[in-house]
Amino acid sequence: MEQYSSDFVIVGQGLAGSVLAYSLWKQGQSVLVLDNPNLASSSKVAGGIYNPVTGKKLTKTWMADDLFPFLADFYTELEEVLGESFFYPLPIYRPFSNIQIQEVFKQEGATDGFAGFGTVDFQGDTYQELVQYSLGGVTTNHSGWLDLPKMLKAFRTFFLEKGILKEIQLNLDNVLPEQLVYADNHVQISFKKLIFCEGDHARRNPFFNWLPFTSVKGEVLTVKIAQDFDEIINQGVFVIPLGNQSYRVGATYSWHALDGVPTESAQEELLTKYKKLMKPPCEVVEHLAGVRPATKDRRPFLGLHPRFSQLAIFNGLGSKGVSLAPYFAKEMADFLLIEKELNPEVNINRYVSFYTE
Ligand SMILES: Cc1cc2nc3c(=O)[nH]c(=O)nc-3n(C[C@H](O)[C@H](O)[C@H](O)COP(=O)(O)OP(=O)(O)OC[C@H]3O[C@@H](n4cnc5c(N)ncnc54)[C@H](O)[C@@H]3O)c2cc1C
Repeated sequence: MEQYSSDFVIVGQGLAGSVLAYSLWKQGQSVLVLDNPNLASSSKVAGGIYNPVTGKKLTKTWMADDLFPFLADFYTELEEVLGESFFYPLPIYRPFSNIQIQEVFKQEGATDGFAGFGTVDFQGDTYQELVQYSLGGVTTNHSGWLDLPKMLKAFRTFFLEKGILKEIQLNLDNVLPEQLVYADNHVQISFKKLIFCEGDHARRNPFFNWLPFTSVKGEVLTVKIAQDFDEIINQGVFVIPLGNQSYRVGATYSWHALDGVPTESAQEELLTKYKKLMKPPCEVVEHLAGVRPATKDRRPFLGLHPRFSQLAIFNGLGSKGVSLAPYFAKEMADFLLIEKELNPEVNINRYVSFYTE
């Protein structure tokens, strides 16, 4: 039997697990990541957009002033450490889809909600060859996209080189809160803290399945467009430039059939929305599906199990993992290492009344 010992054992090498493992490793901690690369993963499907202003009225997202400066520094540093490029700060252009919406943005004080994060124009001629709408729109800065599959691959290589990643399935029937894990019955692992970063798979985790996940299936397309443009365009669907006239188009939201299986109806929905937004035709080259680990109150899940304090969770990144992961991985690391109090809005203690033994 193989035996390992690590202070922090992290289950899952998606966005959450990778960023948390890195944040702990960086502080000189002993870390081991367990991941089954064959399970469905939200991070391997995600569009990867980060955008500080969202919603119909384009208001600043929750904690934007803290999260966005932090993420820019974090991913830039990570590119250097991992020796790969995967972080692409880009403006996002969001055209007004009708005259009423344009009118709303002409009113005094309309841009107060996203001051400093975007600019408005009412002409619409900059993008006239690309988009169907010609009423102008909002261009956001401090936005862009992260090539998550590429970052995770670079993390995988990095963790394997450091000997801190084991590609195994953790069988949850064999987790004993008394600091011992038998994975696949061949591996024995001891730990001080076992931190679950399983994405949507957490719904089946016997220790944390009492948390109110409201997971959402999403689908994306990779398409070819015979035109070059460098901005992300977003109205109904997002269109992200990947280079070489490849673009990612997404995403759908579905609360049924929570699995990683692409569906014809989602492809149809995305192409209909694409045609409504964009003038050039596109050709589909790839279609992927995944499940976002969303939560009832749209806030992440961080903290310790109410009974077994050796077990922890870092999850619930929902549809905004790229913006949330760096800042909250630091918050989780500080909580674990120096007992810095967690923000009550993300601490799973807020749902402790849901827990029954
Ligand atoms: C279609 C779609 C589009 C999206 N677009 C965006 C976007 O534009 N911007 C954005 O910020 N977010 C987006 N998201 C959301 C984003 O993907 C998530 O917020 C984030 O990636 C979640 O990461 P995670 O690490 O929590 O989960 P996951 O990426 O699912 O990772 C979980 C990992 O845990 C492993 N695992 C689970 N259980 C076990 C076990 N028992 N043993 C071993 N390994 C295990 C899995 O193999 C997996 O590698 C999108 C999601 C989807 C589906």
